[in-house]
Order: sequence, then C-alpha cells, then structure tokens
Amino acid sequence: MTIGIWVLGDQLWTGQAALSSREAAKTQTPVILIESRHYAQKRPYHSQKLVLVWSAMRHFAEELHSAGWQVTYEITDKFEPALLKWIKQNGISELRVMTPNDRPFMQLIQNLQLDCSLNLIPNSHFLWSKTEFQDWANSRKRLLMEDFYREGRKRFNILMDGNKPIDGQWNFDKQNRRPPKGKLTTPAPLWFEPDEITRSVIEEIKGQNLASYGEIEPFRWGVTRSDALAVLEHFLTQCLPTFGPYQDAMVTGEETLWHSLISPYLNLGLLTPLEVITAAQKAYFEQDLELNSVEGFIRQVLGWREYMQGIYHFQDEDYRNLNWFNHNEPLPDFYWHSSQTDMNCLHQVLKQVENTGYAHHIQRLMVLSNFALIVGVSPQEIEAWFHAAFLDAHDWVMQTNVIGMGQFADGGILASKPYASSANYINKMSDYCKNCTYDLKQRTGKKACPFNFFYWDFLSRHQEQLKSQGRMNLVLGNLKRMKAGELPEIKALAADWRKKNK
Ligand SMILES: Cc1cc2nc3c(=O)[nH]c(=O)nc-3n(C[C@H](O)[C@H](O)[C@H](O)COP(=O)(O)OP(=O)(O)OC[C@H]3O[C@@H](n4cnc5c(N)ncnc54)[C@H](O)[C@@H]3O)c2cc1C
Ligand code: SF4
Repeated sequence: MTIGIWVLGDQLWTGQAALSSREAAKTQTPVILIESRHYAQKRPYHSQKLVLVWSAMRHFAEELHSAGWQVTYEITDKFEPALLKWIKQNGISELRVMTPNDRPFMQLIQNLQLDCSLNLIPNSHFLWSKTEFQDWANSRKRLLMEDFYREGRKRFNILMDGNKPIDGQWNFDKQNRRPPKGKLTTPAPLWFEPDEITRSVIEEIKGQNLASYGEIEPFRWGVTRSDALAVLEHFLTQCLPTFGPYQDAMVTGEETLWHSLISPYLNLGLLTPLEVITAAQKAYFEQDLELNSVEGFIRQVLGWREYMQGIYHFQDEDYRNLNWFNHNEPLPDFYWHSSQTDMNCLHQVLKQVENTGYAHHIQRLMVLSNFALIVGVSPQEIEAWFHAAFLDAHDWVMQTNVIGMGQFADGGILASKPYASSANYINKMSDYCKNCTYDLKQRTGKKACPFNFFYWDFLSRHQEQLKSQGRMNLVLGNLKRMKAGELPEIKALAADWRKKNK
C-alpha cells in the first residue's frame, strides 16, 4: 500500500496534519503540489496574490525535497488529470489530504474521480477544531466574540494569572482607539527583494496574461517560512510595543502603521497561530511591554481569527448568500480602478490595495466595506471584490468578515450592530478629509460628502429593521429630529449618485 500526500496551497508547513502523519516514513511518501491555471482563473485575483501563493508553494516544495520527501511539483491546467497521472506513476492506493478549510475546495476534492481511496485528515491550521468550536457554541445562548476570546485565554493559558486575566482586566480596547493627531513616527515595514523563484513566477504571470487586478510589481512580500518568521520578529521588536494606541488610525501614505502584516503568512501556514501568540506573550514578559498593546494584538489572533473560522464552519453553506437588508446595487466600478473616484478616503485606500494587496482592519471595515453597505451594494458583489483584491483572502475568512461583520447581511449573527458611519468617523480616525473635494460637514448641497448622505439614506431606508437592533436607537432618534425637507434632499443626492455610478 502506497500513501501519497497532496499539499494544498494554503497548507505550507511541515507540521500540518497530513505531512506529520507520515513524518516517520517521509522518504517513502510521494508528495504532490499542484498549480492549477484553470483554478486561478475561476475568479479575479490580485496579481501579487498569485505570485505569493505560487512562489511560496515552489519554495515549500524545495524545502520538503531537502527534508527527504519524494516531491512532485506540477504546473498544469486542471487538478484532476495531474493527480491521476501522479497516482498511477507512483502506484498510490491512498491519497491523503489535510481537510481544506474552504468549503468550495472541499467540494472540489470530494467531486474528484480518483482511482484510489481518499483520506481526509482533520485540519490542524487553527487552535480550535470545528468540533471544539461547535461544542462551545452549542453551550451558549449568544455567540459573542468577547466570551469566546476569554474562553480561549483560559483554555490556552495566555496572559493569565491563575483563573484571572493578568492585571485583572480582559480588554483594553478603550486605550486602543487613539486618533492620529500630530506627526506620528511609524516603524518601516520589513519587505523583501524577490529571489529567482519569485521573479520567474512574476514573469510567467505577465507572459501568460494571468494578472487581472492590481500592480504585480514591486512585489515585496515574503514567500518562505524564514521570511515569515523574520516579519514576526520585526513586528515583535519594532511594532508591538506601540501596536495598541493607534490600531484604528488611518494616515495618508502610511500603508502599515504598527500592524503586523502577518495575515498572508498565517493564512498560508507559513506561521502558526500558537507560535505567534506565545511569541507576543513572551515579548510582553521579556521586553516589559504595555499590556494594552500586547493584549490588543493577542485578541486579534486568539480571538477574532479563531472566532471567524469557528463561525464559518458553525453556519451552514447558505451563509454566503445572506442579504438581510436586501441590498442589490452593483459595486461601483471605481473599486476596481482607484483613479476613478474623487472621494479621498476611498481613493487612498483603493490605491494602496492596488499597489500592495493589503489594507489594515479599519481601512477595510470603515472605508471600503462601510461605503458599500450604506450605498446598498449587494453583499455578494462586495464579498467577491474583497476576495479578488486582498492577498490574505480565503473563503473562510471572507464570508464572516464581509458578509457578517462588514455588511451585516446575516442580520446580527456576528456583529451587534451594522458598522455604518458617516464622514465623522473617518475624519476622527484619519487625515483623509483634509485633502478631499467634499465637505465632511455637509450632508446636502453640492459639496456634501457621499458618506454623509448615504449614511442618512441608509438609516432611513432600513429604520424598521434597525429598530430591532437596540444599539441603533440613539441614532435613529436623530433621524426623526432631522429638519423638514432635508431627508428628501438627501435621498435625491443618493439616488443621483447611484445613477451616475451605475
Ligand atoms: C471587510 C473585511 C475583510 C477582511 N478580509 C480579510 C481577509 O481576507 N483575510 C484576513 O486574514 N483577514 C481579513 N480581515 C480581517 C483583518 O482586517 C485582517 O486580518 C488584518 O487587517 C490583516 O492585517 P495584519 O496582519 O497587519 O493585522 P493586525 O492588525 O496586525 O492583526 C493581527 C492578526 O490578527 C488576525 N485578525 C485580526 N482580525 C481578524 C479578523 N476579523 N478575521 C480574521 N483574522 C483577523 C489576522 O491574522 C492578523 O494578521 C478582514 C476584515 C474586514 C472588516
Ligand atoms: S470628506 Fe467624505 S469622501 Fe472625503 S475623505 Fe472625508 S469621508 Fe471621505
């Protein structure tokens, strides 16, 4: 009996479940990695995402080969013929794969017509398995992230003092929302020069016209585990000490601020969540860091990241199609072409995404997603755009973040109120409004900021539904107090804008 392992493009670490199940017999175990051109063209991807994934796969194949595995690397059209050929050549009787985290890929694997048995090994990419999350969720009346996060702190003994949180407090969010006032001195991010393998992937993508969105160069991301570890180390020493206070700030020309930039690596398996969390905890003790910064960061990985994947599997497949507000507007074209908008906040963030495939959390939530929400864009259209535009996008992280958190299309399974705001929030947390043609204070008139008239139009369109969300009552009260004649003017501006941007 010969067991062969198929390593998927987001399973690139030697400790992953399928590889570790054969570690002792690695020299007799055929392993395959496959780049499918057909799969890469099923939806648009940021050009740098293709470079990142394929270069990381090629580097990982070399690493496995040096460690003694029998590695085959295929660049092909479709997965199935490449697999069938390799299975036959190697006399494989069992194909072993670590269960993919993304549902569409799981379906693809289950539909393959293979002439050997298929053994799907439970995924070891997250701290919480699907069943552990389900057990937790089934024991709760409400699925609050905060409750889940506290459970994680206890379960994995992170920043704990016995049964209590270190310093007696679980959450330091209030200290971590400082607006970017004055000149901030930010750390430079750690970027990399492309090596020979990465350069050849870039040339192939250009030569075969595979790029569909974003700039392919300069490509500055890491593509190996050692690059990813260097990024983590850089973050721990240069950024973590001050990660907390300006976590939500947005500054023109500052693409990364104190953020870690590790999501692309975590999501491909080049870093594991536990090593990231324990490294941050170790830095807290050894470097005597501020707890609000370290706790704020650990909450992202131990809390949000695990919670998002837990909810993805806890909800059924139909979650992706939810549309609580019944929003059906098309996505404005400028999401694909940043130069086509004169709204400075959107222009700056979209340009950054085109250049890097990256934006930090608040740029994604309160600029890109917020605008789509208040305009009334179809949640599925904006989800497809996020999936195309970001380097760290995968089905499991997209559905919950965009459909749930960003668009409130699940009616509140994930968030306690919609993340909708006017220009006020963007002005408070960024410097974008200073250089904009629109007036952040106006909600009517020629210079009115579209975030303003759409925000009030959104509240008015959905006031009946929003009444059921207790946290919205205060702002709905303001809607009622609006002076006569103003709402029709707001609605007319919104309708006119939609017509022009169809
Ligand atoms: C609309 C929207 C779309 C998003 N799309 C993605 C996506 O495609 N891929 C992705 O990994 N994250 C996504 N996020 C979550 C978050 O914005 C990114 O993980 C984060 O910005 C990545 O940058 P960073 O590594 O510098 O993060 P940091 O700010 O340094 O945070 C550290 C880590 O925490 C984790 N994290 C924090 N929040 C989340 C979250 N909500 N979901 C999952 N992980 C989280 C990430 O692994 C991140 O690397 C999205 C959020 C929103 C609101
Ligand atoms: S004024 Fe409005 S459109 Fe301009 S940057 Fe501010 S929020 Fe964005």
